[in-house]
Amino acid sequence: MLAQHDELNPLQAAEARFDLAAEALNLDEGLCKILRTPTREVIVHIPVELDDGRLEVFTGYRVQHSIARGPAKGGIRYAPDVTLDEVRALASWMTWKCAVVNIPYGGGKGGVICDPSILSQRELERITRRYTAEMMDVIGPESDVPAPDLGTNQQTMAWIMDTYSMHKRHTVTAVVTGKPLDLGGSRGRTEATGRGCLIVTLEALKKLGLDPKQARVVVQGFGNVGGQSASLMSKAGLKVVAIVEWDGAVYNAKGLDIAALLKHRNETGSIVDFEGGENIDKDEAMYLECDVLVPAAKENVISSANAHKIRAKIITEGANGPTTALADPVLKAKGIFVIPDILANAGGVTVSYFEWVQDRQGYFWNEQLVNERLEELMVASFRDVVNYAEKHGVDNRTAAYMLAIDRVAFTIKLRGLYA
Ligand code: GLU
Repeated sequence: MLAQHDELNPLQAAEARFDLAAEALNLDEGLCKILRTPTREVIVHIPVELDDGRLEVFTGYRVQHSIARGPAKGGIRYAPDVTLDEVRALASWMTWKCAVVNIPYGGGKGGVICDPSILSQRELERITRRYTAEMMDVIGPESDVPAPDLGTNQQTMAWIMDTYSMHKRHTVTAVVTGKPLDLGGSRGRTEATGRGCLIVTLEALKKLGLDPKQARVVVQGFGNVGGQSASLMSKAGLKVVAIVEWDGAVYNAKGLDIAALLKHRNETGSIVDFEGGENIDKDEAMYLECDVLVPAAKENVISSANAHKIRAKIITEGANGPTTALADPVLKAKGIFVIPDILANAGGVTVSYFEWVQDRQGYFWNEQLVNERLEELMVASFRDVVNYAEKHGVDNRTAAYMLAIDRVAFTIKLRGLYA
């Protein structure tokens, strides 16, 4: 069992879940070794000139956890606290996520240790282009396809696409996903993770016999995933009663007007002091009694230190790794229906897959088609996971891991070992 002092290391969390599922599957020892270890890890130290003329060296990572089912797939994170272990964990979660929704990808993740909040656009562009140049032999439409994650966005993807294309001497749109629409992006990609969260939440409410129109939702995090989840959930008629951010929390028992709150945040830089709600204690807001809690920011917000305080019926994990492995049994004992990250937030990579398919065909779909196909895939995956959990008497997270590991292991067995 995981020791307390390791609880907040995401790699330990990922490995603990893997081990639990692998044991339940009675997975062959050799396969366990293969699946526990990343296929490839690249570390680069990139010199970049800052706007004031100083030189700085940034450290960047790209980890390909698995390429058994297809190209490595996963975002690139820019944050001051990125670590190799975190990127390794996130890369393995991408492998399992892609397998849960059954799309033909492996898993990968990248990261650069930097603080985007204090870097100019020009500095971010130089970091991105140099990182891409260093990764030329690693990334590619057939080998490893990055996407946005924390601290990166459509613009970052445009720079990567351009740098890669300049080196190749022709435009290669499919090297990244989450691009701007005009550069080969997909309709519906920006909303996709939030839309996926909505789709699985509606399925869970149905499963528990709860009326969506009466459902009270608390969303932690108001970035792309939290903002889109809140917005789409409130449009679908759920009551988003609280939003919790790092600098404050707002509450309205009748449901917040999310469009107005987004406008307020964009104008003032914060969600606090919003006219359409009251400020509440940000450290307590996550423990409000509610039907759905959506942790949609970073890792480790639900741990053994606070899991007992959660009063939600459903947790929809919009973020990657918001719950530590030691919190899992606490949530289970409380009877909370957890929709695990590798299922709940898979809408993003699913529409990334649609984007890659459209780029490779050079034929683009309308938004309705994207959304219909996303819904079809998310609903089917939700049912696969829940049925698996019921059949095998395990919780949803273990079921999702078992399903995913089984699919990847099957591919490896079928391909055989090249020696
Ligand atoms: N960064 C997102 C995730 O963690 C999206 C990855 C992708 O679209 O490749 O799922």
